[in-house]
Amino acid sequence: MKVLEHIAKANGKTQFSFEILPPLKGQNIQSIFDSIDPLMEFNPPFIDVTYHREEYVYKELENGLLEKKVVRKRPGTVGICAAIQNKYDVDAIPHILCGGFTKEDTENFLIDLDFLGIDNVMALRGDAVKNETYFTPEKKGHAYAEELVKQIEALNRGTYLDAETLNQAQTNFCIGVAGYPEKHAEAPNMESDIHFLKKKLKNGGAYVVTQMFFDNAKFFQFVKKCREAGIEAPIIPGLKPLSSKKQLNLIPQRFNAELPDALIQEVLKCKDAEQVKNVGIEWCVMQSKELMAEGVPFLHFYSMGKSDNIRTVASQLF
Ligand code: FAD
Repeated sequence: MKVLEHIAKANGKTQFSFEILPPLKGQNIQSIFDSIDPLMEFNPPFIDVTYHREEYVYKELENGLLEKKVVRKRPGTVGICAAIQNKYDVDAIPHILCGGFTKEDTENFLIDLDFLGIDNVMALRGDAVKNETYFTPEKKGHAYAEELVKQIEALNRGTYLDAETLNQAQTNFCIGVAGYPEKHAEAPNMESDIHFLKKKLKNGGAYVVTQMFFDNAKFFQFVKKCREAGIEAPIIPGLKPLSSKKQLNLIPQRFNAELPDALIQEVLKCKDAEQVKNVGIEWCVMQSKELMAEGVPFLHFYSMGKSDNIRTVASQLF
């Protein structure tokens, strides 16, 4: 079922959803089930599965030269989606990137998803690979998510890259796109970022999931600006309970999300990891309650491989 249908069916009630990462190469599928199982009692209608492109690793050889190796540390997005749909009977939403994909790769990826009965995809550009300053698309790939959305939407209309493709069966994906309550790090300003968000939606995006944020005022302001710009699509807030002191530095840098002073002060007062975790949970519950009161369609949690704190948060809300 499509995300828009899940929203319509809930009749204004806020629902629970979450995102998982494929496990590191070498781990088996059970590690994924172990992180999903504790969250199933909160009835998520869908689970997102992130996509991780290749990375470059440099290995020092005996002669002192460096050997460049291409590795994918977290493959398995499509297989995990199929396994989730099979085991839990909920919708799995694979993330699909511009980065590392030619248009041909994208088309073949989408055909696989369609054959697996997957109804939704989250279309993203992806970040620059480590060691590169700017995002570089594949030679025959897409530079921005709005172009990727256009290709998915074309396939939904039965338009394949090669016009001579026989039959031209239509796919039927509901397309999610990313939004940034504190703007995307590369965007010159919020207006420009919202302009391109609107383009993603005009090209076929059906709903928005936001980057994590820790200050609800920023989310509400973002939604207001989107609505003023004529964006009508549902906007789903992305949340993450802060869980370690290290994240005070990591989150602003990696996700361009500012941490409110009150949260920083509470974390700095903590004497051990357990206390930090509890502060993160309390903050996230407070954010969630306020967002629910405003009628958001979903609370979408970033699990980043850990589900115990999300379980504690969800048990106070759903
Ligand atoms: P875009 O929408 O293409 O925007 C990128 C930047 O370019 C923005 O600054 C935008 O304003 C600007 N822009 C957009 N279109 C144009 C244009 N036509 N001309 C000029 N400028 C333009 N990353 C992963 O690798 N795997 C994942 O699974 C993953 N999941 C994510 C899920 C969510 C909900 C979110 C919020 C992010 C996720 N990311 C993931 C991270 C994402 O790939 C990065 O944030 C990336 O840098 C931007 O992706 P985007 O789709 O928002 O890009």
